Amino acid sequence: MKTIGLIGGMSWESTASYYQIINEVIKKELGGLHSAKILLYSVDFAEIEHYQATGEWEKSAQVLGEVAANLEKAGADFIVICTNTMHKVAPQIQERLSIPILHIAQATADVLLEQGIRKVGLLGTKYTMTQDFYKEKLLESGLEVLIPDDSGIETVNHIIYDELCLGTIREESKQAYLNIIEQLRSAGAQAVILGCTEIGLLVKQTDTDIPLFDTTLIHAEKAAELAMDE
Ligand code: GLU
Repeated sequence: MKTIGLIGGMSWESTASYYQIINEVIKKELGGLHSAKILLYSVDFAEIEHYQATGEWEKSAQVLGEVAANLEKAGADFIVICTNTMHKVAPQIQERLSIPILHIAQATADVLLEQGIRKVGLLGTKYTMTQDFYKEKLLESGLEVLIPDDSGIETVNHIIYDELCLGTIREESKQAYLNIIEQLRSAGAQAVILGCTEIGLLVKQTDTDIPLFDTTLIHAEKAAELAMDE
């Protein structure tokens, strides 16, 4: 079994989900007492979020690049960055490595295409929804991407940073998300990507009948499969 190098802590609330999902897949596939070989480097999210807010992405790339290089040195066979947003600096992190990064947007695009989805809504941080680094992976795969209107972007982003990353789950916020999901459906989305690793803590597939693609679940499951790949 390969060793998975997780870059976590962004936020730790969702990194906990990665740890659980990866181990559940390994247990289901291999049975008995099998569990995943994982190296986890959990960063201080306050530092990373500061660099996001001030636009100092190069500094965040340096921090995460260093972390990734340490994981490689410690024996990781591949890297999983446990956040959608910080894939903005995935190319700079990859430059520091000779092992691959399992890209969250590519993993998600592959699953969407397998399921015959062509037009998809995207929810995530304002960086993920409005900038190109994430959507381009989806577009290059042939998907059409819809994002919420300006007030929807503000609401989705604020709930991520001021509630979900702090472990706060509010019914009102779930309703706000479900309303935005309905707007995306009315605009033609066949499915919605939960493109932030904390959204699955708030909104579940049982809350709506439009198909939801939870990036945490997809990314963690792919990581487990890759770890078992001969
Ligand atoms: N975990 C979130 C994501 O998947 C947001 C936190 C971050 O900015 O990294 O994008």
